[in-house]
Amino acid sequence: MRDNKWLEDRLYEIWKKHFQDIEKINRVYIRFGRANRNQLGSIVAKGPKRLFRKPGRFPKPSWWLPESFSIITMNSLFKNPQIPNEVIDITIAHELVHYAHGFSSPHPQLYRYPHSGSIVTKELIKRGLKDQLNVHKKWLKTNWKNLHC
Ligand SMILES: [Zn+2]
Repeated sequence: MRDNKWLEDRLYEIWKKHFQDIEKINRVYIRFGRANRNQLGSIVAKGPKRLFRKPGRFPKPSWWLPESFSIITMNSLFKNPQIPNEVIDITIAHELVHYAHGFSSPHPQLYRYPHSGSIVTKELIKRGLKDQLNVHKKWLKTNWKNLHC
């Protein structure tokens, strides 16, 4: 069953396989949010405001507070068993790329914007997720709009 525990297992599996070099500096949570046609997933940082910092601050500022955490919210339409695991895995990996690039995470921010110049796609391919990415793209293109909630 696709519940929050299942999401957690996927997250740690993907982290272990494809993001092992990315240190888990703070606590990272994942959970299902609302059903949404337009957004597959999101990552936000919560906790003391000082976690949020301006672009170009490098390396990690000393005032980052360890009680901050990052939370990945996944579209609850993904509970539908018709949706292949690759679609969900790539969505999780996409949010992990943001984490690795320092968006909504205590890692140094590497780019000015989270999606500029296909940086997410490039990173996913670099991390060996090309096949899953192709399944993800193809499936969404043909099936997403016809999906019944
Ligand atoms: Zn994104």
